[in-house]
Amino acid sequence: IATLYVVATPIGNVTDISLRALHVLSLVDAVACEDTRNTAQLMTRFGLHKPLIAAHQHNEREAAETLIARLQAGERIALVSDAGTPAVSDPGARIVDAVRAAGLRVVPLPGASAAVAAISASGLLNDQFHFIGFLPSKAKQRDTMLQQLRNVTATMVFYEAPHRIVECAAALAAAFEPTRQVVFARELTKLFEEIHRCPLSEAVAWLNADAHREKGEYVVLVEGVAEAEDAQDAEAERILALLVAELP
Ligand code: SAM
Repeated sequence: IATLYVVATPIGNVTDISLRALHVLSLVDAVACEDTRNTAQLMTRFGLHKPLIAAHQHNEREAAETLIARLQAGERIALVSDAGTPAVSDPGARIVDAVRAAGLRVVPLPGASAAVAAISASGLLNDQFHFIGFLPSKAKQRDTMLQQLRNVTATMVFYEAPHRIVECAAALAAAFEPTRQVVFARELTKLFEEIHRCPLSEAVAWLNADAHREKGEYVVLVEGVAEAEDAQDAEAERILALLVAELP
């Protein structure tokens, strides 16, 4: 039946494609993709050949109309981005929204996402995370946003481009307590994968210690603010203990 499959693709290592993704990519009538050349390469790698439809951030609205018309005609279509999970700091959300609004079926095929891969290997003990993705590129807007994040207790997850990574680390170190832990997850699933954890105060020095570190893709995790002990709760517990001690 007519379905839009939202298919996660690898973030580096092609063998991270799922069996289900390969199955669905082999049965759909067309694949809507962020960059047709990129997706053609991935498809060829697995011996798959399907019509490709361009669906990038500059044509999402028109692409949605095209896809809806094809789905209404009974087609099955896969939606992929260049790497990882579509609609996560990637195009796709508008298309999914429009397809759902048209009453058509949307099915996710989970797989790689840089954010989740980084969290899983970071060792930061926190079951809450706050996904931010890319910070604004303008320094003033970036710093305003970081100030607004100062009291977040969950681990924060940022995406950053290699040419801005040092500047980003300096901005994080300036905005948050220097003792907070930061994790740089670089080139995940690729040959030069590197996962480094240190206090924010040491972040810039670590990046500058090796020229290669200004290349490659990064997920940056920053520990949330330490939860201040709630003074009122502590006082209530103290009084309760006194009362309990007096009970027969
Ligand atoms: N949709 C993708 C996902 O699910 O992870 C994210 C796409 S976003 C346009 C690209 C950013 O994701 C990069 O700038 C980088 O911050 C992060 N990223 C993607 N692949 C990565 C990898 N192999 N290692 C580290 N970070 C990666």
